[in-house]
Amino acid sequence: MVDDVIVGAGIIGLAHAYHLAIRGRRVAVFERSPRARGASTRNFGMIWPIGQPFGPRRELARASRSIWLQILVESGLWHEQSGSLHLAYHDDEAAVLEEFASLSRDHGDPVELLSPRQVHQRAARVKGEGLRAGLLSNAEICVDPRQVVADLPGWLHERFGVRFHFGRRVIGVEPGSIHAGSERIQTDRVWICAGDDLDSLFPDQYQALGLVRCKLQMMRSAALADGSRMGPMLAGGLTPRHYESFRACPSLPALRQRIARETPWFDEYGIHVMASQNGLGELTIGDSHEYGDAIEPFDQARIDDFILAYLHTFLDLPELAIASRWHGVYVKHPAEVYVTIKPIEGVVGVTGLGGAGMTLSFGVAQRVVQETLS
Ligand SMILES: Cc1cc2nc3c(=O)[nH]c(=O)nc-3n(C[C@H](O)[C@H](O)[C@H](O)COP(=O)(O)OP(=O)(O)OC[C@H]3O[C@@H](n4cnc5c(N)ncnc54)[C@H](O)[C@@H]3O)c2cc1C
Repeated sequence: MVDDVIVGAGIIGLAHAYHLAIRGRRVAVFERSPRARGASTRNFGMIWPIGQPFGPRRELARASRSIWLQILVESGLWHEQSGSLHLAYHDDEAAVLEEFASLSRDHGDPVELLSPRQVHQRAARVKGEGLRAGLLSNAEICVDPRQVVADLPGWLHERFGVRFHFGRRVIGVEPGSIHAGSERIQTDRVWICAGDDLDSLFPDQYQALGLVRCKLQMMRSAALADGSRMGPMLAGGLTPRHYESFRACPSLPALRQRIARETPWFDEYGIHVMASQNGLGELTIGDSHEYGDAIEPFDQARIDDFILAYLHTFLDLPELAIASRWHGVYVKHPAEVYVTIKPIEGVVGVTGLGGAGMTLSFGVAQRVVQETLS
């Protein structure tokens, strides 16, 4: 008998395990794969509060970031408080960054506008030619998603006694128990953190939520040969189109219109270009966004080409060698930052964090656990 069974060892399952275990509860996590292989291992590793709109969502991201930091320090997992740097090479991009900086000041969450010379001091690989401005934020943290998802289970086990059962698919959930293979395990509560798997457990309830599936193409480079560090995590001029936090900027529509007119393929494939660098010196580069029925099982070489061509407009990386390519899938709700289902007594499902699941994981899990157990 355990107090809590968690279905899924992605970051949402791990965050729930943490918040339950610190309450002294006996927690067991069941993961169908030998190790988690979903969105949580396939992302940039960007803890990215700057992408969340001012107000409650930014506060949630900030709270989540604090918990992340505490865990990263305590567990000794690699991370870098590198911050983020958005770059502007067009007047409309610079206008958006200026407006964003002003809004940030108004909300008491200031960021710094940098001149091209200041950008170069922070990030020597950023191209100076045509650069108008940079927007520096100190809040963002870089983790290595592959390492975090592989190593956090060991830490949760050693520190809190959380038990992990890898290669064990949960095939049924009832009040007070789950079925994993032929085994029935008794538990007080079940927390379903199954990511984009909406078909296996309680499919009707998930179906009713109206979640949208999104596929993203990504790449990782070999370590930079000279051992150099990139500095802050980088986002090019396409990125303000993507994050809700920039929607309050009056110049954003003009930026959007120019991109749609001059380079429509970026809209067609939902491309914006960001890069993070892990502790080994490798760059994680992406990404694209294809939704719903447009999703094919096949990755498109032209999408990678568009991403890389854009990356080279702002990063001086002549030696860049791509070491791996993959895609990831997440589910997202059109309006809510995450969704929960309570299909039967004692069972909660949590998903739908879209492209902000790494950022928000520990904050959302804290809230869901608090609300459910209080
Ligand atoms: C390419 C990409 C880039 C991203 N970049 C970022 C980023 O930089 N920053 C950020 O904040 N967010 C980012 N995100 C979003 C973030 O990765 C996701 O929101 C988050 O990882 C979702 O976590 P999850 O635990 O819900 O899902 P998952 O990571 O998919 O985990 C679900 C787990 O449940 C397991 N499972 C499912 N069903 C069962 C079952 N029946 N029994 C047992 N196990 C089961 C699966 O095997 C899986 O391991 C990105 C996403 C993608 C795809």
